[in-house]
Amino acid sequence: MHVGSQRGGAVCRMLPGMMTLGRCLCGAIEFEVSGEPTRGSWCHCSQCRRAHGATPVAWVSFPRSGFRLRRGTPRWYASSESARRGFCESCGSPMLIDDAIDPDGIDIATAILDAAADLGPVRHIWVGSALPWAAPSDPAIPTFQERSTPRPDG
Ligand SMILES: [Zn+2]
Ligand SMILES: [Zn+2]
Repeated sequence: MHVGSQRGGAVCRMLPGMMTLGRCLCGAIEFEVSGEPTRGSWCHCSQCRRAHGATPVAWVSFPRSGFRLRRGTPRWYASSESARRGFCESCGSPMLIDDAIDPDGIDIATAILDAAADLGPVRHIWVGSALPWAAPSDPAIPTFQERSTPRPDG
């Protein structure tokens, strides 16, 4: 499937089969990720809001098999019963979600990727928690009160 070719059913706007780099603000942690992204979402949940100090937060998910650290090691903490979040303990950049609900995937904060411009989300999730001034306003973009799939971030 050509990603982005079908509205609503598209997983994100990126072309499949590419590799991109991600890194934190200070550069202590750098990783590469390759393969076909499985989904991309703006998340309005209260956990992302607090973890990032911003809302919504854009996420893109890749097969875990395509994720490889190049420098440093994220620090992890449990943010829910099933999920842990990875961040840089030097600069504090929030970067990753590792959720037992999706053991084959990893969620990456889209904005920390070099290819972020090509990885636009295609749905809003956890809209039931959205702040009124940050609520989705484009009726053409699908919205979900909670998650859109049985997997962590949409
Ligand atoms: Zn850092
Ligand atoms: Zn969230």
